[in-house]
Amino acid sequence: MKTVSIIGAGPGGLMAAETLAQRGFQVTIYDHKPSPARKFLMAGRGGLNITHSESLDQFINRYGEAADILRPAIENFTPQNLRDWCHNLGEETFIGTSGRVFPKSFKASPLLRAWMKRLDELGVSSVFNFEWTGQDMNSDITILALGGASWPRLGSDGHWTKTLEKQGITINPFRPANCGFTANWSDIFKNKFAGTPIKPVTLTHDNHSIQGEIMVTQKGVEGGGIYALSKSIRNAIERDGNTTLALDFKPNIPQTQIEKILNTPRARDSFSNYLRKTLGLSPIVIGLLQEDRNITNLSRTDLAARIKSYPLPLNGISNIDRAISSAGGIALDEVDENFRLKKMPNTYAIGEMLDWEAPTGGYLLQATFSMAVWVGTSIK
Ligand SMILES: Cc1cc2nc3c(=O)[nH]c(=O)nc-3n(C[C@H](O)[C@H](O)[C@H](O)COP(=O)(O)OP(=O)(O)OC[C@H]3O[C@@H](n4cnc5c(N)ncnc54)[C@H](O)[C@@H]3O)c2cc1C
Repeated sequence: MKTVSIIGAGPGGLMAAETLAQRGFQVTIYDHKPSPARKFLMAGRGGLNITHSESLDQFINRYGEAADILRPAIENFTPQNLRDWCHNLGEETFIGTSGRVFPKSFKASPLLRAWMKRLDELGVSSVFNFEWTGQDMNSDITILALGGASWPRLGSDGHWTKTLEKQGITINPFRPANCGFTANWSDIFKNKFAGTPIKPVTLTHDNHSIQGEIMVTQKGVEGGGIYALSKSIRNAIERDGNTTLALDFKPNIPQTQIEKILNTPRARDSFSNYLRKTLGLSPIVIGLLQEDRNITNLSRTDLAARIKSYPLPLNGISNIDRAISSAGGIALDEVDENFRLKKMPNTYAIGEMLDWEAPTGGYLLQATFSMAVWVGTSIK
């Protein structure tokens, strides 16, 4: 019986373990943390958006330059296959209004419990508190599934890059992906509004618009709407040092209509109350408009224009420690079409440790699962 060592007990490593154990390989999985899949459990805190229901072609296009290498794996283990797999582990899934797919429990822990039980029944051995630093694993095959570099305290600390670089493998520097950005808030604004969401809002950057939510933090902004545009925002800040996001606080009302509404007499209301009563603007939106300039002096046309296209300057990229995922990692031309490392014998690399990125929406987990099944199936 052939032996396989899998290093990294995240979703990639565990799925490769399941596929290979089902095919009769003797599998041992190692992780330097005392328990498996800590980042997967953290993803569960946000509801565990496991995959997406859009057409497969559209789905695969989300991976940009990595679409070609990921296509065979995703076509082989599709979003529907992933949903069936969850169902077989006792977790029904459903499609949310945005097309995103979640387990009905909105959690990762029941799925992980059932999955670990299945791996145990398949005879997979687990060794925790074991850090891989390049040692020979004494097995026929080694699969590396060590993750990227975001949220290092959950285990994916990216320290493995030094080990692989010693083998002559090209590692592209890690960069935050699906991350927050810094803004120059006044003390008054951040003390009052940090932790408050702005919604609904349409965000536009580099000709891409999306409707979403922004969470204001002490240092800047994060949240679904920001993550969706984070690749282009990050690239602009890396290139130019700063960039400006345009926010539409009244996505469903045309500017001319807002101007008309602003014709309503103000009577004795304060300007904030007036904007709240006439346009339904929330205190945080009014606070943001006031951050920028004294809006009481603006003409109706200028104020309506600012409400429809508020320029929010962003001047930095938040730390990778709190990013949802990371770009960078093993250069894609270091692996063959089966994710085998060309410079290390009988060794494969899967999941977020490879240099690909995708938006939030279930694309990160789906690609990781699909790569794991692909490797698990291709090994002879
Ligand atoms: C807050 C948050 C929310 C998220 N939400 C979603 C979501 O809703 N949908 C989605 O698709 N994705 C989401 N993600 C991203 C998703 O969790 C990751 O893309 C996914 O976990 C990557 O899987 P992986 O197996 O490649 O790596 P990881 O899950 O990072 O696992 C790598 C494992 O390797 C271990 N390891 C690392 N180095 C060593 C070493 N030297 N020796 C031994 N073990 C080592 C680590 O301890 C870890 O257990 C979220 C991420 C975060 C942080």
